[in-house]
Amino acid sequence: MKSPAFDYIRATSPQHVFELLARHGDAMRVLAGGQTLLATLNMRLSSPELVVDIGALDSLRGIAVQGGSLRIGALTRHVEIEESPLVAQHAPLLAMAAPHIAHRAIRNLGTIGGTLAYADPAAEWPACVLALGGTLVLQSSGGERRVAADDYFLGLYSTARQDDELLAAVELPLIVADERHHFDELARRHGDYAVAGLAARARVAGGVLSGLRLAFLSLGDRPLRAPAAEAVLMAGPLTDARLAEADAALRAELDPFADLTHSAAAKKQLAATLMRRAVKALTSETT
Ligand SMILES: Cc1cc2nc3c(=O)[nH]c(=O)nc-3n(C[C@H](O)[C@H](O)[C@H](O)COP(=O)(O)OP(=O)(O)OC[C@H]3O[C@@H](n4cnc5c(N)ncnc54)[C@H](O)[C@@H]3O)c2cc1C
Repeated sequence: MKSPAFDYIRATSPQHVFELLARHGDAMRVLAGGQTLLATLNMRLSSPELVVDIGALDSLRGIAVQGGSLRIGALTRHVEIEESPLVAQHAPLLAMAAPHIAHRAIRNLGTIGGTLAYADPAAEWPACVLALGGTLVLQSSGGERRVAADDYFLGLYSTARQDDELLAAVELPLIVADERHHFDELARRHGDYAVAGLAARARVAGGVLSGLRLAFLSLGDRPLRAPAAEAVLMAGPLTDARLAEADAALRAELDPFADLTHSAAAKKQLAATLMRRAVKALTSETT
């Protein structure tokens, strides 16, 4: 299918985009890497009157350590994150997750801002940003505001970003000495969207976890924390009894959708498997 007709403007500055967003609101779509938007246009799932290409806005690009955080501009492509020494050093979780995103050709074009704006619950970056306790930087003609990842993902393809706002960047805390990251997902074929996935970060001392943040993908309408399971896992040494208690807590707090190939019960089982693998990896990496 071909997309419906729309007007096209290549933006020359963020201010230019803000003016267009303020004027057109939901009738306009921002075009970043186009790896989702062009498909939705061609399938006629979206029919904006105006598409505004932000590809020339260099201020939205780049990876830098700034003010004690790792700042990744919205237009930074998946492949740039995958290959960045700064990401490998300060937020290795993203480097672990990147190879799971689609295929190389898509990673060459798709952007982290596009993924975080679209908020597909099966995408890798939203879960990573949630696991790391990141912050989304939103800009509009009214100025700039920051939203914690915990408050940003509201539901299926739904975020705290308003129609007149551009996602400018994401800021991530820098990894500290005793902090460990782990990413894993289960997909039918490498490059497919995950059936279930888990991004995890924790501090580990003497085999005990603290500051644990588990963020599951493909298990609900948004990336999901598992606070009850996290609390059990942080309560003391990771005995078999504690792991069994965490498993039960996780199954009780998750309420996944069935998909075309997996029942809700199967997805809970996969989530529990991913959690056990994560705990093992987080603790064994310290030895
Ligand atoms: C075959 C295929 C397989 C894929 N598999 C995966 C996968 O396994 N995991 C995964 O995570 N992704 C996957 N993707 C999606 C891919 O990662 C996209 O790159 C990503 O979803 C969107 O990024 P983009 O830069 O292409 O955004 P676009 O397609 O340009 O935009 C997506 C949406 O976000 C909005 N938007 C974009 N940037 C901004 C911004 N800065 N501010 C506000 N709104 C903005 C657009 O208006 C649009 O609504 C796949 C895509 C394809 C085609």
